[in-house]
Amino acid sequence: MNSWPEKTDADTRRFAEMVSSHQGWKLNGDPAFLETLIRGLTANFNRYGYYLCPCRDTAGSRERDQDVICPCVYCPPDLEEYGHCFCALYLTEEFSASGKEPSGIPERRPERLIP
Ligand code: SF4
Repeated sequence: MNSWPEKTDADTRRFAEMVSSHQGWKLNGDPAFLETLIRGLTANFNRYGYYLCPCRDTAGSRERDQDVICPCVYCPPDLEEYGHCFCALYLTEEFSASGKEPSGIPERRPERLIP
């Protein structure tokens, strides 16, 4: 039993909507893909106690995962350079409006921090 209250997918969706609205970003427009990311975030929260990026592995502690707690520190520069984050959960308004498909982008996390 965890010492933190569990999140539902609905909680996580609300969280992602709040972040995107606050930041002026858009959520991925593909409903099935978005659902997969939301589920991954919820599962990570319920397992680790924080929203570890659904596309990355834990380094073993909240402290060592600090840079990849969603929205990660690599999100703003990735949005700036590629129009979307590493997982393609968050998109810039411009990228979202372009109708382009997010593609694989390089991992910006320094190798020394990757477990
Ligand atoms: S890559 Fe996207 S989904 Fe992953 S932590 Fe960063 S902002 Fe969140």
